[in-house]
Amino acid sequence: MKLYNTLSRSIEDFKPIDENSVKMYTCGPTVYNYAHLGNLRTYIHEDVLEKTLRYIGYPVKRVMNITDVGHLESDADDGEDKMLKGAKRENKTVWEIAQHYTDAFFRDMDSLNIKKADVVAKATDYIDQYIEFIKGLEKKGFTYIANGNVYFDITKVENYTKLSGMDLDQLRTASREDVEVDVHKKNPQDFVLWFTKSKFENQAMKWDSPWGVGYPGWHIECSVISLVNLGEQMDIHCGGVDHIPVHHTNEIAQTESYTGKEWVKYWWHGEFLIDNDGKMSKSKGEFLTLSLIEKKGFNPLSYRYFVLNSHYRKQLAFSFDSLASAENAYTKLKSRVKTIKDNADNKQANEQAAVKYKEEFKKCLEDDLNTANAITVLFDMLKTEDLNNSQKLDLVADFEKVLSLDLLKEETVEIHDELADYIEEMIQKRQDAKKNKDYQLADSIRAELLEKGIVLEDTRQGVNWKKIN
Ligand SMILES: [Zn+2]
Repeated sequence: MKLYNTLSRSIEDFKPIDENSVKMYTCGPTVYNYAHLGNLRTYIHEDVLEKTLRYIGYPVKRVMNITDVGHLESDADDGEDKMLKGAKRENKTVWEIAQHYTDAFFRDMDSLNIKKADVVAKATDYIDQYIEFIKGLEKKGFTYIANGNVYFDITKVENYTKLSGMDLDQLRTASREDVEVDVHKKNPQDFVLWFTKSKFENQAMKWDSPWGVGYPGWHIECSVISLVNLGEQMDIHCGGVDHIPVHHTNEIAQTESYTGKEWVKYWWHGEFLIDNDGKMSKSKGEFLTLSLIEKKGFNPLSYRYFVLNSHYRKQLAFSFDSLASAENAYTKLKSRVKTIKDNADNKQANEQAAVKYKEEFKKCLEDDLNTANAITVLFDMLKTEDLNNSQKLDLVADFEKVLSLDLLKEETVEIHDELADYIEEMIQKRQDAKKNKDYQLADSIRAELLEKGIVLEDTRQGVNWKKIN
């Protein structure tokens, strides 16, 4: 398999350290709010990466952290405690906030058919190990204490910026400029390993440590959780491109200083989701979440389909129009599969042709995860005269190991009566409204039905409904 490696800034042949266990680490969510569609995009591509490795035949062990320690607003150590901010906003304890958004995150993962990591580790479960790790760095002379906090001294590291390829000045401008400079740092890129002095009041999560009561810096959790669960070296470390200059750079600095070994063989980064104005996080002032697109009547898997039609190393522009056309294409794909399923033929099987399509599909994925081309192979395969329908269905099932679009999943059929006819009529009205991009009308129809205890479920084959009490 060919895979782009941020560290070498080139496409490389993927060769795992140990063929019998590919070790993979994913930076997980910070659970102070719902996951943004842009983050979910990265998780979808990472899911494809893991499933592709498995499809090719590698056993994979994947680890992901959950950042439930309140971490700071910016990648650098300035800013405000996100967890506390969320807790204040919602009148809950920080622990309740963390649990609530962790649950919401995994609901999103399920809706998008993203496989759960083999190990999911909460940052707050590893406090003792962080302390041991910091002690180790301290012993080797990589740290200093200033104003009560333990800092990592980046001048003690050779080639600190090797991941980003930037020089230190570039790096300084790459990190936020609107935050206050911490005057206690020897170098602007030094980062805190353990805080005892917080810039914000009422830091809610605190633990005892040799340096005083406080809490860990946020880069440390990925280093330590991966060392504990994957050992001192791993094959692939994944995350969004925004992590390259600070978070991943600091992860490398502290981990390799601690172990004295090269840590990660391949660094994998997913690009941003942007809106039409080129901005990342908002679309017309709305914070884009999976539940928002569901509320607008879209199927979550239409978003997966939308994402799979892009390459992970290219920015992807999001709009509800483009999501609507992706949903349209996805619905057609699903009904094409259903037609094949419903129409048995007695055509002779052509083994050679089946092998050819499987090989082509695999080749696309092995080409730095070209999912868009892989989907084209799927369409070509469904159209061809060279295969019989049962072969086609076998191939769909095979491709689904990576695509995970529920192409073969049966939807439940509802029993019709008078009420059902009324509901079907409303559903049709709502579909028309959606087609005309009148999402307000579509929303109001959904709300009207909900008042009557009818919940709509958008599926690839159309809209289903169910009655609730
Ligand atoms: Zn991380």
